[in-house]
Amino acid sequence: MAKITLDNLAHSYLPNPGSEDDFALKELNHDWNDGEAYALLGASGCGKSTLLNIISGLLQPSQGRILFNDQDVTHAPTTARNIAQVFQFPVVYDTMTVRDNLAFPLRNRGADADYIATRVQEIAAMIGMEDTLDRKARGLTADAKQKISLGRGMVREDVNALLFDEPLTVIDPHMKWELRTQLKRLHQQFGHTMIYVTHDQTEALTFADKVVVMHDGRVVQIGTPQELFETPEHTFVGYFIGSPGMNVIPAKVDGDRAYINGAEVMLARGYGKLQGDIAIGVRPEFARLSDSEGLPVKIRRIEDVGRHKIIRADCFGTEINIVAAEADEIRADMTRVAFDADHVNVYANDWRVKEEAA
Ligand code: ADP
Ligand code: MG
Repeated sequence: MAKITLDNLAHSYLPNPGSEDDFALKELNHDWNDGEAYALLGASGCGKSTLLNIISGLLQPSQGRILFNDQDVTHAPTTARNIAQVFQFPVVYDTMTVRDNLAFPLRNRGADADYIATRVQEIAAMIGMEDTLDRKARGLTADAKQKISLGRGMVREDVNALLFDEPLTVIDPHMKWELRTQLKRLHQQFGHTMIYVTHDQTEALTFADKVVVMHDGRVVQIGTPQELFETPEHTFVGYFIGSPGMNVIPAKVDGDRAYINGAEVMLARGYGKLQGDIAIGVRPEFARLSDSEGLPVKIRRIEDVGRHKIIRADCFGTEINIVAAEADEIRADMTRVAFDADHVNVYANDWRVKEEAA
């Protein structure tokens, strides 16, 4: 198992990249700690597979270095990196049985026959294919083939890291949950360094200790699910995580007050003078309707989603969402929205302002 270091890494698919826009992966410095489970989360096309393929060696980066336990592997081939990678679509040998498919990575490394038999049996149990071991892979459903691919990815215990690139896309919803649970268990048992790529926030938040959020070729935040919820470092993290996502309202900030169309919002601390496009960000869970405090709002719609209500409203022309408890009464005289000052973040050009400006 290994710590993986990305040093000044960047990648462009163009032969002569000019501006930053030409880079599918913008410059990145990061350590993936040995034995930690990460989710790499972002919308389609943001650069997740590019990053994963650079780590596994399928792709040579146009800039920077990759280190495994402080050893430079930037130019080492995939096989030398000792990594297991599972892709979005099945990669199986059709003419082989399920058993032989699962055993393949172990045989390839010259493992002992008894060990192979035991380990294949364990993996078959994990993916729920004990009864299919002697069937040829040909003719199995895409779903079953993908489970074999997952099994092959998990079968070796001595890998430096396990990389999963949206591995459950073709798996049916119930089995998805089951397999994700198995992967988590595998991680707890063996402590592999794992990177799990997904565009699904629920999948990311339930699988990982740490979530790496990518947007437009850039890593915008690395944090625990709680950090991503409470202090989104970029407005994209605010929008992308949570349902509904964070409210972002253009504002002026002066000291410890924000002003929206002249109406005042209290902040938890001072911000000094800020430059750029300024907005406040408040999660719907930290906003509440009121008859006396806060900004004026027009309620557009109330959605009952079971455990709570989502109030869709308009605040000076910005669409905002408020989460209320199922039992909360919503009266006609509630024409204001109040925010929990401790949970109001301030953004300048989409990045959270951490320090008070000088
Ligand atoms: P994700 O996995 O997050 O969906 P990718 O890493 O596949 O994103 O792609 C990131 C960007 O790089 C996209 O704009 C995509 O079109 C581009 N891209 C991916 N693969 C190639 C390639 N082989 N050649 C050129 N551009 C590519
Ligand atoms: Mg991808």
